[in-house]
Amino acid sequence: MAVEIMIDRELCTGCGICIEFCPKDVFERSEDLNRYDNFYPKVARAEECIVCRRCELYCPDFAVSVEEKS
Ligand code: SF4
Ligand code: SF4
Repeated sequence: MAVEIMIDRELCTGCGICIEFCPKDVFERSEDLNRYDNFYPKVARAEECIVCRRCELYCPDFAVSVEEKS
């Protein structure tokens, strides 16, 4: 099963919750700043994702979406 994980970097406030709570360590902090001067996360290991959706549920800014691809 392929998974597409998208981060809307312009919505992201850089809180790091998704990085902290992903059980599979899928995210890493980006070295780039968004327009709010936040280091938004990047998807570093999408192949590890188990589609638990914690990142979607815990992101306070609705900046993460996880989509299963058949
Ligand atoms: S769905 Fe779960 S495993 Fe996949 S990136 Fe989000 S928190 Fe990590
Ligand atoms: S939880 Fe949402 S707002 Fe916080 S760093 Fe992740 S994507 Fe950005």
